[in-house]
Amino acid sequence: MADNFYGEVLTDHNLHPLHKHELDCATCSQHGVNPSCGDDIVLNLQLHNGIIENGSFTGSGCAISQASADIMLDLIIGKTPEEADHYRELFMRMITGEITDDELEELEEAGALQSISKMPARVKCAALGWRTLEALLKAKEEQNEDIDKS
Ligand code: ZN
Repeated sequence: MADNFYGEVLTDHNLHPLHKHELDCATCSQHGVNPSCGDDIVLNLQLHNGIIENGSFTGSGCAISQASADIMLDLIIGKTPEEADHYRELFMRMITGEITDDELEELEEAGALQSISKMPARVKCAALGWRTLEALLKAKEEQNEDIDKS
């Protein structure tokens, strides 16, 4: 039963990704690759007043990388970068098998990818969107620090 639900979540996000499109209003973009599988995505976010107001991704890759990026955007749109980073930390711990049940609940649909922790070869696929998010937020932060200094 549970496995079916998880399979359905993945299939649904893979066949009908809500966030896979160009984003004209994006304020920042980040390219991310997972060479071990050939997954290649660009993550776009529209950051405004300290909120991730919108986001999208483009590119190509395996079902897991694409579904994971789509589910990630579902979770982080409408949140602050700090909250998004919190989800990222939970997600990374989930796919390496180090998460509590309460934390898993926080991840909502993203919890569908928990079984990835038992497939080490696919961990990088599931992590790609989140790693790209981390790089994007880090670059953004450094940019802001530069603005503060000048
Ligand atoms: Zn992959």
